[in-house]
Amino acid sequence: MAESRTPAEVVARAARATDLADLDAGVVDCFACPRLVDWREEVARTKRAAFRDQEYWGRPVPGMGDPAARIAILGLAPAAHGGNRTGRIFTGDRSGDVLFAALHRAGLANQPTSVSATDGLALRATRIFSAVRCAPPDNKPTPGERDTCAPWLHREVELIRPTLRVVVALGAFAWAAWWPALRAAYGVRPPSPRPSFGHGAHWSGTAVPELLGCYHVSQQNTFTGRLTPEMLDDVFARAKQLAGVD
Ligand code: SF4
Repeated sequence: MAESRTPAEVVARAARATDLADLDAGVVDCFACPRLVDWREEVARTKRAAFRDQEYWGRPVPGMGDPAARIAILGLAPAAHGGNRTGRIFTGDRSGDVLFAALHRAGLANQPTSVSATDGLALRATRIFSAVRCAPPDNKPTPGERDTCAPWLHREVELIRPTLRVVVALGAFAWAAWWPALRAAYGVRPPSPRPSFGHGAHWSGTAVPELLGCYHVSQQNTFTGRLTPEMLDDVFARAKQLAGVD
């Protein structure tokens, strides 16, 4: 399957993805953002000392989880030494440790840890993906990179649309990325003005998934106590209730 090297090729390749496996195959073969391609490959070459014996993935990181998900967790982008190293989203970094421990407590993951793509982790009724699929420098994609990557997210949402009931946006970037997805995957005009992001924010529309805001599980938030395990438990309990997941 051809690589995507321009924004137009991303649009075309995402649109013709027939299922999630096909979409993932397109995502991992994407080279449309020159700055991010350089960065993901440079990080994979230079590595962090603790991982110097490991082969880094160094490619875009697709979504993971239940193809019939009722709950989607929308993140920002893979971490340079997490998803960009292991090839699986939120895998192999501190953010993932916090997130998967919470998902396990909520009964949405079969184990509390996520260390490698082959560690046996499975999600129940839940899918995790990011607004931007390549690790960006300083965790900051440009608006252009966000827009170039959006078709992957939009098609993924479209493919799980039959079951999807709740989206948990981790952080303001993901919250903002949801509105264009609403238009692309549901043909629904986003509310105006757009509701502000906040931890515990909740937006409801008609015939579209409920949107919940949650502080990002970054170390910046979890180490400082801005986001506690109890706060995450509350968000996932609410998500399960809204999604009708036991
Ligand atoms: S960020 Fe998205 S669009 Fe850009 S190269 Fe990575 S996968 Fe492709």
